[in-house]
Amino acid sequence: MSRLIIVSNRVAVPEAGSKAVAAGGLAVALKEAFTAYRGLWFGWSGKIAEQPADTPTIADRGRVRYAVMDLSPQDHREYYSGFANRALWPIMHYRLGLAAYSRADYAGYQRVNRIFAQALAGLIEPGDLIWVHDYHLIPLASELRGLGVANPIGYFHHIPWPSGEVFNTLPASNELLRAVADYDLIGLQTECDVHNLSRNLVDELRAIPLGGGSLMVDGRRTRIRSFPIGIDVEGFRQAADRAGMNRTVRDTVAGLRTRKLLIGVDRLDYSKGVPERMEAVDRFFASNPDQRGNVVFLQIAPKSRTEVPEYEQLSRDVNEVLGNINGSLGEPSWTPIQYVTKAYPRAVLAGLYRAARVGLVTPMRDGMNLVAKEYVAAQNEEDPGVLVLSKFAGAARQLPEALLVNPYDRFEVAEAIRAALYMPKAERLERWKPMVERLAREDVDWWARTYLTELEAFRTIEREPPAAAEAAQ
Ligand code: UDP
Repeated sequence: MSRLIIVSNRVAVPEAGSKAVAAGGLAVALKEAFTAYRGLWFGWSGKIAEQPADTPTIADRGRVRYAVMDLSPQDHREYYSGFANRALWPIMHYRLGLAAYSRADYAGYQRVNRIFAQALAGLIEPGDLIWVHDYHLIPLASELRGLGVANPIGYFHHIPWPSGEVFNTLPASNELLRAVADYDLIGLQTECDVHNLSRNLVDELRAIPLGGGSLMVDGRRTRIRSFPIGIDVEGFRQAADRAGMNRTVRDTVAGLRTRKLLIGVDRLDYSKGVPERMEAVDRFFASNPDQRGNVVFLQIAPKSRTEVPEYEQLSRDVNEVLGNINGSLGEPSWTPIQYVTKAYPRAVLAGLYRAARVGLVTPMRDGMNLVAKEYVAAQNEEDPGVLVLSKFAGAARQLPEALLVNPYDRFEVAEAIRAALYMPKAERLERWKPMVERLAREDVDWWARTYLTELEAFRTIEREPPAAAEAAQ
């Protein structure tokens, strides 16, 4: 059985004695992949150490070996909080005004990628497939190639890839384009992302399109394709079926009495449009005064990246918008918006999704947005709720039957909330069925299988040894 090496920024090593893959987005996504391969999972341990070791800590859990590295405080500040989350993240999400580029941060980003490549190279065996995840690790393939690694190396980019007009504002843009083109297979979420990156490689690096998504870039061949990430549809449906037993879900539903529930679930991130969504809900109550007291909006928004100043600012902005709306509209017997920053497990979320007549998923920009898919999967098949979805979420491409909205237009979102609340059951069913069927076909196992089948094809390619490795021999 051959081996699959997964590389991701953060790796959660399961408790000793547990054979299960740790819970969490990517871990769930890769569960099936690890039944077809022996696995090695490499990345940051999530820990910060004054003097990190330059070799990884190894832990074996069932079929998967975990190899994790600590980061120094400077690495964490420059690579993770700095370049990845203050430069790449805002630019990839089209928020040029929020981007903060510094040369020191970029140097830290490159340094950590080099350290990771050096630590990983010693663990790679000839037949291994290597699959790298997300924007923290764009230069990893170039670093590995420089060390003589000839295995197939794939990359999956979980967030949007913007148009060249936006991406090229990043001072390091051309170096990053060259680096990403060092992967054999570049997986993106949507066709729009594929178009943006391919076009930019042609315009900036004179890449030559070879057909079928392949491009020749600086004498190397790369392939760019969309693989929209899916969810465990059946798991969410079952979790929603069982959620009636959960205390949080039961108490929430009992507290609603006859009120209808609108729900939003997001990490507290400026890409998710949380204050804009609250303003749209405010607009809805302004133009539908008869609905005051009859509808409640529950926003679950666990805090993230609190060390990054733009996230602190967002948290203050949300508190202000929320306070204004609840203060001006609320009654002693009715709070229009309930806001919690605690994170909830899937068992609770699935039950709350099912209890909500409307799922409000209105990011300003999102690579995919799994919450939109989870909301659909959790609905009662006899009486489903309605998804109001931003047209700027990658998920909108697979969910055209949702009420698609422009999240920058609070009047349009308010109108969609009204349409969703008044939608007859026949129309709700007609919209929901094709969505849930598509999500079941294109689920998370399909995603991993499709990507890996394509990456397997790169095994047969003969590679010239890199100049650096040759010289060292
Ligand atoms: N999530 C969770 N508990 C919470 C809030 C969110 O488990 O309290 C999960 C949610 O179910 C989803 C993921 O976090 O699976 C968020 O994924 P999404 O693609 O929507 O956004 P991201 O945070 O990756 O940008």
